Amino acid sequence: MSDHSTHDDRRLPTDTADGLLLIISGPSGVGKTTITRGVERSIADSVFSVSVTTRAQTGADVEGVDYHFASDAEFDDLIEQGQLLEWANVFGKRYGTPKQWVFEQLRRGRLVIVEIDVDGALQVKAAMPEAFAVFILPPSEDVLLERLRHRKRESEEAIARRFAEAKREIATARESGVYDLFVVNDDLDRAISEAVGAVRSRRTGTGRGDRGSV
Ligand code: 5GP
Repeated sequence: MSDHSTHDDRRLPTDTADGLLLIISGPSGVGKTTITRGVERSIADSVFSVSVTTRAQTGADVEGVDYHFASDAEFDDLIEQGQLLEWANVFGKRYGTPKQWVFEQLRRGRLVIVEIDVDGALQVKAAMPEAFAVFILPPSEDVLLERLRHRKRESEEAIARRFAEAKREIATARESGVYDLFVVNDDLDRAISEAVGAVRSRRTGTGRGDRGSV
């Protein structure tokens, strides 16, 4: 990205000259995090952007790895100081992407992966139209509901709420025109390969600007 391509002595051997911001979105239960981590493992110079959130830390979350956990007041400060590239309310809690860290990584030529919701993707694409946005879809609504149930970490009521929210998010994503590619997670390895292939094509300039098959 030309805006962030100034000389940097701290470049690593894996760094390249073609930094790219990769947005990955998708509803809960679609396997988005697993796909994101798979893409991260497959592309040598990729880095995952750790979001800031006001939601409560669960036993499965590692501070600084999954999220930076912040109070409402701390989040307010980040917004006021212009430190977030984007932020959104998701299930009543706030989530945001640290701007400076993302720009620093892009300047080093890396693939920066942000796992954010549709509202966030709209904000990022408005500010950085060159970002590449991928939306992960379930093979069907029935499969999505089953996957939400099998996570077993929530009540039926919470599952029903997430299912309704997921359907709304898929519809919004389709209508938004923001996503460059829709990947159906019917098979994890295949879905990761599809996303990785699209990113590689985009970075080598052979991408077709494919908007996907949906
Ligand atoms: P969870 O609380 O289950 O980890 O994440 C809930 C949702 O928040 C997911 O759909 C995820 O994509 C979204 N999310 C996580 N980090 C960010 C962020 O920095 N910005 C935005 N806009 N959404 C985020």
